[in-house]
Amino acid sequence: MRLERSQVLFVGFVAGAAAIITVSITTFVSPWTALQLLARPQGWGQVFMRVVAPLLAFVLAAWLARLSFVLTRASVAVRRLPRMEELPDRLSSSIARTGVERITCVPGGVPIAFCTGAVRPEIVVSEGLAERLSDRELDAVLLHENHHVKQWEPAVRAASETAAQVLFFFPLLRWWSRRRTEEAELRADQAAIRKVGPRPVAAALCTLGSAVPAEAAFAGVAELRVAQLLGDPLPVRRPTLALVAASVLGFPLAIAAGTCLVMAISRLEM
Ligand SMILES: [Zn+2]
Repeated sequence: MRLERSQVLFVGFVAGAAAIITVSITTFVSPWTALQLLARPQGWGQVFMRVVAPLLAFVLAAWLARLSFVLTRASVAVRRLPRMEELPDRLSSSIARTGVERITCVPGGVPIAFCTGAVRPEIVVSEGLAERLSDRELDAVLLHENHHVKQWEPAVRAASETAAQVLFFFPLLRWWSRRRTEEAELRADQAAIRKVGPRPVAAALCTLGSAVPAEAAFAGVAELRVAQLLGDPLPVRRPTLALVAASVLGFPLAIAAGTCLVMAISRLEM
């Protein structure tokens, strides 16, 4: 079984936290001291002020820093893309039919379409997209991406994914973030289906799915999207018991390890 990077990180976190707690208890604090501390109402106040509040502040700062980095990197990458001065005729016709705005066309034969930009989202499509898709398929792609633009999907997706990365010790957040992304893709497909019907959406999904990596905006979550297009009932997705157990364990473990660290560093009689 191949572990995901987040799973390896979580296992490392559990091992590290357990080591900190064990070393702290055996070296600095007896377990009774900690229990006596928590038995007093003011003990919980001290834990909150010295551990929980700084931990929350650190998590918030780390999330904002990671989010800024991810959005800036994406923005720089998009700004570096070569842009076509004049849009291909078929793309211009599709824009006129759908009324979709803020579209940039990049040269190249590979069919690509994605939505990008946190503050002013825009749609980037390739020259190859207009060449490879039929008129209605092209309309379907623009309508799908336009739904992402209206929902501020690039910013929302970056915010949820980076929050899941920073709060890696709460794995339910990563699960929720992935489900949220899948729902966003399904809703964008629904918006396209309402205007052009399911066939062009399915055909565009096939063309783009076979030509671009799974992370690109119009690909991924393929099984769910195909099921929706076919009118099949979508599977109910629930987190596994192991995921719930890991999340229930993660937060208290982070707080316990933080408490031990603070007590060890400051050597305070709490
Ligand atoms: Zn999409």
